[in-house]
Amino acid sequence: MRLLLLGAPGVGKGTQSKLLVEKFKIPQISTGDMLREAIKANSALGIKAKSFMDKGSLVPDDVIIDLAAERIRASDCANGFILDGFPRTIAQAEALDRLLAEKHISLDHVIEITVSQTNLVERLSNRVICRNCGSVYNKLTNPPKVSNVCDKCGGEVYQRSDDTRDAIVQRLKVYENETAPLRDYYRGKKQLTHVNGEQPVAQVYQNILTLLERQ
Ligand code: AMP
Repeated sequence: MRLLLLGAPGVGKGTQSKLLVEKFKIPQISTGDMLREAIKANSALGIKAKSFMDKGSLVPDDVIIDLAAERIRASDCANGFILDGFPRTIAQAEALDRLLAEKHISLDHVIEITVSQTNLVERLSNRVICRNCGSVYNKLTNPPKVSNVCDKCGGEVYQRSDDTRDAIVQRLKVYENETAPLRDYYRGKKQLTHVNGEQPVAQVYQNILTLLERQ
């Protein structure tokens, strides 16, 4: 199964991807996570990406396309993958199409998760994440039981450096300008379906499974 989860920062793509990884035993490809790993490793890619990410801007297409292409070509993606945060521009979507065509495959599902702008700002400004397992918490509505400690693995819970007010506003603006046009791109290919992301995580997950079964 080759699945693309589309949606603005904070709609829950990462959370849903992790549930789908468990169920379908295929990898999540999150370019955001890959870039954060590169920053942690202090690699040339990480150093280049950090300045764009901290401002809430997109990392240039050529960098991202190479990064994603190498990951999609890896052997563990042979039985499928879940794209989370890639593609984010039309140029990236076209590059993805070329890459898939080379391999004589295509996306099976493109699911857009939607959440209102007001709720996204609330979610992102209160979001904290486990450094170890990636579990996501909300400081107000779903805090870890022990402050800064992950309920699931005991890892350190932290706030992303781009989950600041200014970067959040910029990321949502960038989403509307650069990424939202992908809706029409995939609608044109009759691949786009939607899930309401303002429901409990388990309900969003069930709705996604229903869409995956239906097509
Ligand atoms: P995410 O974790 O998906 O919210 O991504 C965090 C940041 O990484 C974004 O705000 C961008 O700066 C960068 N990034 C991640 N994926 C992409 C992409 N496909 N294209 C450009 N920049 C990206």
